Amino acid sequence: VASSDASVPELRQKFGPRASDAPERRGAVARDASHVQGDPRAVVAPRSTEEVAWLVRWARKSKVPLVARGAGTSLDGESAPLRGSVVVDLSGWTEVLEVDPVDRIARVQPGVINFELHRHLSPSGLFFPANPGSWTTCTIGGNVATNASGPRSFRYGPTRNWIRAAEVVLGTGEVVRVGTRAPKRSIGPDLLQLLVGSEGTLGILTEITVALAPRPSRRAALAVAVPAATTLGPVVAHLAPLVSHGLAAIEYLDDRCADALRHEPGAQLPGGGALLLLEVESHDVNDETGRLERLSRILKASGLTEDPVLFPDADRLWTLRGASGTALDRALGERVREDIGVPISRVDELLAEINRIATAHHVVSAVYGHLGEGSLHPNFVVAPGTEEGEAVRGELLAAAVRLGGTISAEHGIGSVKSRWIADQVGAEGVRWLREVKRTCDPDGILNPGKIVD
Ligand SMILES: Cc1cc2nc3c(=O)[nH]c(=O)nc-3n(C[C@H](O)[C@H](O)[C@H](O)COP(=O)(O)OP(=O)(O)OC[C@H]3O[C@@H](n4cnc5c(N)ncnc54)[C@H](O)[C@@H]3O)c2cc1C
Repeated sequence: VASSDASVPELRQKFGPRASDAPERRGAVARDASHVQGDPRAVVAPRSTEEVAWLVRWARKSKVPLVARGAGTSLDGESAPLRGSVVVDLSGWTEVLEVDPVDRIARVQPGVINFELHRHLSPSGLFFPANPGSWTTCTIGGNVATNASGPRSFRYGPTRNWIRAAEVVLGTGEVVRVGTRAPKRSIGPDLLQLLVGSEGTLGILTEITVALAPRPSRRAALAVAVPAATTLGPVVAHLAPLVSHGLAAIEYLDDRCADALRHEPGAQLPGGGALLLLEVESHDVNDETGRLERLSRILKASGLTEDPVLFPDADRLWTLRGASGTALDRALGERVREDIGVPISRVDELLAEINRIATAHHVVSAVYGHLGEGSLHPNFVVAPGTEEGEAVRGELLAAAVRLGGTISAEHGIGSVKSRWIADQVGAEGVRWLREVKRTCDPDGILNPGKIVD
């Protein structure tokens, strides 16, 4: 962690004890959940839009970069503070400002934790559908800035689908409100959507209005064994139409990931081999029984003939599934963790590519992910940031693009994947992204080194 400097007293004067350059405070925010090591010069915790706007103006004047930080759970260096940035810690800015059941919206401060919003909404019969595996810790600001998604996005789509409006302080220092409370709008280009997934490189979100969905009365989850050599694309093709019969998630764990999760306390997963994890929403017990029977018939017809294990509380399975990364940390240790997506019709080719890459580099691989959306997390047991680790990553990303897919299905680009962004969007796309960045952040003071540098 870099040492402090002369700019910090100005921050202390404005923010008092909410600004700090103490080594332990800086050390706590020097990394996100990736291997990327940052070098923050200070941490500041603003609690109003005015304070964020002041910080941005100060950063422009002082030529000191800023990095917005929610919970710091991003996986590609998105919130790692590079180049001596000041970390803008939004994690304590946590009020749910309004819940309106008629407009079906919640207006929140950026540091509200996804799970806390879920809990807060419980009496309203509504919920915010994006449920990343990190939902007990990650923030709504972070979810919007990375366009996060989770198992239920098979039915509900990613965060992008559930945002109505936002207040943002652009890198110019201007405060702008984008979007509306109304469910529909047709004003393009859509400035609100431009901010979704922009990883704090264009502006800092200071208030977010999310759209809410009605809570299903019942939600059951299933874990079912996948026989070796099953081709997964056709299985998804058979299951996908069940979305109109309450199917809300189709998740996959290969045998290594499933074995790692079987060791988690109280896992109760079916024994041996790879697994599909599924969620079914329903109106009442009879409806649930009917839907589960229909699902079982289709699973059997698809070659998944073993009886599934039922989880009457679906969230228990998703919390377990959210521990896949940490279970693999224990089982496999340091590794390249990836997040790519391909069309469903190419999923089996992608899995073959993952095996080919692992064999060619003599490394162990493991795969899990949101199969119903072709969104997979391949893991390769090779140190990230090394020449070989990045060569493995590069081959995987090239395969995803070649198969008509994406170098990030849900986590983002951060600093880890910025060198491959041109492979995804082309040189013209990079030029366009740079022009957007220049307009919103003319001095390049917001989250440098991310997406496009
Ligand atoms: C165990 C685990 C499981 C995970 N599972 C999933 C998953 O299933 N799906 C998924 O999509 N992701 C997953 N992630 C990744 C991560 O949790 C998500 O990307 C999450 O949205 C990040 O939220 P955060 O609050 O931690 O953001 P941070 O890591 O703090 O920040 C992420 C990015 O958003 C920017 N940012 C944060 N707040 C703001 C703001 N208010 N204004 C502007 N920019 C801001 C940051 O600058 C940074 O670029 C997982 C991570 C872990 C560790």
